Amino acid sequence: MKRINTPAEWNPLWLSHLQKNERIGFVPTMGALHQGHLDLVQKSVQNTDITLVSIFVNPTQFNNPEDFKKYPNTLGDDLEKLESAGVDYVFVPEVNTIYPEKAELKLDFGDVERVLEGEFRPGHFNGVGVVVSKLFHFIRPHVAFFGQKDLQQVAIIKRLVRDLSFPIELEIVPTRREEDGLAMSSRNLRLNPEERIQALILIQSLEKAKRELFDGKSWLQVQKEIERDFQQVPLAKLDYFELVHPDTFESQTEFNQEKKSSICVAAYLGGIRLIDNLPIIP
Ligand code: AMP
Repeated sequence: MKRINTPAEWNPLWLSHLQKNERIGFVPTMGALHQGHLDLVQKSVQNTDITLVSIFVNPTQFNNPEDFKKYPNTLGDDLEKLESAGVDYVFVPEVNTIYPEKAELKLDFGDVERVLEGEFRPGHFNGVGVVVSKLFHFIRPHVAFFGQKDLQQVAIIKRLVRDLSFPIELEIVPTRREEDGLAMSSRNLRLNPEERIQALILIQSLEKAKRELFDGKSWLQVQKEIERDFQQVPLAKLDYFELVHPDTFESQTEFNQEKKSSICVAAYLGGIRLIDNLPIIP
């Protein structure tokens, strides 16, 4: 595995792979890698000729400076994991390589960014859109891999690719969970043992809501019940629990078995904010 730090190092390599007609797969990450990231990597290794993984903790997508400062950094371990997974290149740029100057551009993704993560984390999706655009321009992959764990981010990236005509295919990979159901996340490393136990309320509430919808309860009834369940968990504070269309993120007030839908949840466990989602009608 070769480590590169700048686009200038990548350019001749990119050209040589292109001349050999090789397909390049790209997995953008912020490091602190877990099996969820490695699922994306594995899919790229299996389905493309060359896999490049980026590790870049993008400051502009953090609306909370404390969250950015405390974002876990496990670069040594990450490099070992990527090497064993058969990755060809890891791109580890410095902040001033990606942002030689402050990016002034503001991206507006329309209604999809006005709700849920967009509403609770102002500026987050602008930061994601700008950094992913830059990375797409630098790396110029044939295909890029994203996790369903960040469902709203997937909707945003699909729009970015569509509206700016990036000639890049997207592959979406299902959420990888711990044995007890907690969605894997780099932020789980920051939970203390008690928060880690109480964090199970996220997946438990998603599964309960799904069962109750199929048992015929109305969405509003289910949502109220889940809000009450969260109040019983002392270290948890719910941001939202919503039934949405997974592409438009339009809120659904009634469950309709004919319509694509997912439930999305975000909550704090102590000071750590976690998100999860469950496809109901895929
Ligand atoms: P991050 O490092 O958190 O920016 O994540 C990098 C990529 O890995 C994103 O496309 C995420 O959606 C994806 N990812 C993160 N956690 C998981 C998970 N538990 N299962 C599948 N994909 C994930």
